Amino acid sequence: MTRKVLVSGGTSGIGAGIAQAFRDHGDSVIAVGLAGPELDTAAKDGAFRGITLKALDVSDQQAVDDLAGSLGDLDVLVNCAGMIRRMAEYEMATFLKVLDVNLSGTMRLCMACKPQLAARRGAIVNMASMLSFFGGPAVPAYSASKGGVMQLTKSLAVAWAKEGIRVNAVAPGWIATPLTQALQDDAARSQVILDRTPMARWGTPADVAKAVLFLASDKADFITGAILPVDGGYAAM
Ligand code: NAD
Repeated sequence: MTRKVLVSGGTSGIGAGIAQAFRDHGDSVIAVGLAGPELDTAAKDGAFRGITLKALDVSDQQAVDDLAGSLGDLDVLVNCAGMIRRMAEYEMATFLKVLDVNLSGTMRLCMACKPQLAARRGAIVNMASMLSFFGGPAVPAYSASKGGVMQLTKSLAVAWAKEGIRVNAVAPGWIATPLTQALQDDAARSQVILDRTPMARWGTPADVAKAVLFLASDKADFITGAILPVDGGYAAM
């Protein structure tokens, strides 16, 4: 059966890898990202062939509602949109913005898509992080948001199980994407990450996508409320 899949943050990094993996699996995929150069570049990139690309700001309630209303059926929602602002997150306006995108944006899309997902007994996969488990002194809002995503995932899993919607999350370790470009480019800091990662390499969007496809599939029929690390063993150390 061809499933319909919506991936937020699907025009860059991990989300793009997830959108492409569902497309390669034969699913019908809508990838949404912020309007601007990233979306324009994706529209010209052959790697997105066969994927429907749309602009969406997950902090815009009306835009989220309009998009959900335009979807028709939906089998899988992947909430991958996210931002990080590091030490600027100690400024209150930035703190609130990161929470609004990473945590509230996830809740907005879950709520807006719930009727369609219930109708298809569908699945949600959210994007947690190692920073769902650990504090991050240089990223207070990002860490708070990802701790929140973990608890939101568990809460919605319990609340929506009787309606047939499974809600899980993946918690990626260190993945090579534009979000972590500065760290990848800093040889000393990259080495610290590799030394702390048992599998001693950066992860890829494809690594994360495989776990997301599993959680969204019928192989995970009896799994809900799980937070699955995809981290090369980082959280086990
Ligand atoms: P990325 O910067 O490549 O992608 C982030 C995506 O989110 C982009 O498509 C961007 O357009 C979108 N986005 C940002 N603000 C948005 C908004 N207001 N509305 C809609 N879309 C918005 O980064 P990535 O590394 O691919 O991150 C994807 C997700 O994975 C994020 O939730 C991030 O927190 C999470 N994550 C990443 C890592 C890592 O090491 N890269 C680790 C753990 C978790």
